[in-house]
Amino acid sequence: MSEKSILGSYHKEESVQIDPEVYGRFLDLVSRHFTIKPVREYAEPGDKICLLRHDVDAGGGGGLWGAMKMGAIEHKQGIRSTYYMVHNVRYYRDNRIRLISKSRQLQRMGHEVGFHNDILSVCLNGKSSHTPEHIFKSELDFLTSGGVYISGVSSHGSHFARSYGVFNTQIFKECQPTDPEDRSDNVNGVPLNTIQLSDYGLYETSLILLDYYISDSGGNWRTTERRKLVFPVRNHDIDPNDFEEYMEKLGEDDDVNKIMILTHPGVWYRERFSAFRLPFGGSE
Ligand SMILES: [Zn+2]
Repeated sequence: MSEKSILGSYHKEESVQIDPEVYGRFLDLVSRHFTIKPVREYAEPGDKICLLRHDVDAGGGGGLWGAMKMGAIEHKQGIRSTYYMVHNVRYYRDNRIRLISKSRQLQRMGHEVGFHNDILSVCLNGKSSHTPEHIFKSELDFLTSGGVYISGVSSHGSHFARSYGVFNTQIFKECQPTDPEDRSDNVNGVPLNTIQLSDYGLYETSLILLDYYISDSGGNWRTTERRKLVFPVRNHDIDPNDFEEYMEKLGEDDDVNKIMILTHPGVWYRERFSAFRLPFGGSE
């Protein structure tokens, strides 16, 4: 499949400027040290595995278009990964037929499509009077009935939810805060920890045990160990100039066998790239 045929003829494709060379270099770097896989393969045996994940948030020219571009670049390099679609943004709500068709295109490239959960934000800002479980179930039904095979969920790091002292993961029974003092059965009347993921046969990315987790959230590389489950998760920064070295170090460490990397299409959108200051790309 050529990149053009994957992207199709949608006019907005032109505005998505993720640089194949820059992103390709990132993929090469990771591939030198790890075998890249979609997240749903997290339980399969193997050494030196990198679960590659993308939270397809809105904005910045990233969004669905950025996901298609990233997916095409990966496909060209023989890489499969996971794209989590978020339910409360325009690309998802405004054209549901297009969302399904693009998600299926990603699946045909071998990628996994998952659900990006921002349900507590929807409930807390009064945009829905439904319970978290009702919203969760109806979005899953919608995606699944359209032929999008959801195996798992990642949860959006919502500043809005955090302003109420909660994280989106707290809709799930399995994701109770580690500190009992932080636990509650509701926030502003919205019930917490009501959805049992195992009833749905789904994974949540923060429940996957990893040696290291790395993300580009907010345009900065951040990392943490995830050898045991702690909620909420706390990450610390990696200097962008040290990123290549950091990956080498993880690659050479025999105790590091499973990592997860999260990249957001919006962060890799070229106009925001100079602010990102990745050491292995761009004109700087
Ligand atoms: Zn997100």
